[in-house]
Amino acid sequence: MKYRSILLFGAPGAGKGTQGKILGTIPNFFHCACGDVFRSLTATSAIGREFIEYSGRGELVPDETTVRLWREFIENSTKGRRFNPDQDTLVLDGIPRSVKQAEMLKDILEVKAIFYLSCPTMNKLVERLQRRALRENRLDDANLEIIRHRLKTYEQETKPLLSYYGEELVHKIDSTQTPVKVLYNILRRIAKL
Ligand code: ADP
Repeated sequence: MKYRSILLFGAPGAGKGTQGKILGTIPNFFHCACGDVFRSLTATSAIGREFIEYSGRGELVPDETTVRLWREFIENSTKGRRFNPDQDTLVLDGIPRSVKQAEMLKDILEVKAIFYLSCPTMNKLVERLQRRALRENRLDDANLEIIRHRLKTYEQETKPLLSYYGEELVHKIDSTQTPVKVLYNILRRIAKL
């Protein structure tokens, strides 16, 4: 059995989390933000330390660790009845984040659509990330050099996923629009799936 999924895709700061949280409040949609799963780990556990080490440098956590943790999260959510794979659509936010992760997950994900929140200006992303750093106390958003490294990691490791999945699945949405307009664009497509 495969998990029916939609993917929120875009650079750090593009607004995936904002949209994902809203979509997750709709019945039969389950929001899963990979970064939140990592941040919920105890900082002293081996995997928690690994997360702090990589994210603090603006790099991706190794694929094996990420996929293992994500699978555990989904299995626990299923057991705890927060997620019902027979009825719910997964709203994936931040996973898969590399072609390798997509390959590792291809037998268990049925990807119905990819919402690519595109941002034409890098400055806008940097500005959003710096604001978030203050508000949410995020280590990885605090310093300009790390932010630039995260954006570069996104370009090099994550963006190739768009061609991996192919353009029929990808819906490009201008993420500089207001959140309500971005949401409208996502919803009118989801309604047709
Ligand atoms: P953002 O959307 O701003 O990039 P996230 O909260 O999604 O932030 O992720 C924060 C950090 O967690 C990433 O920079 C990375 O180090 C780690 N991370 C999250 N998801 C993944 C993933 N799928 N693979 C590897 N590392 C990840």
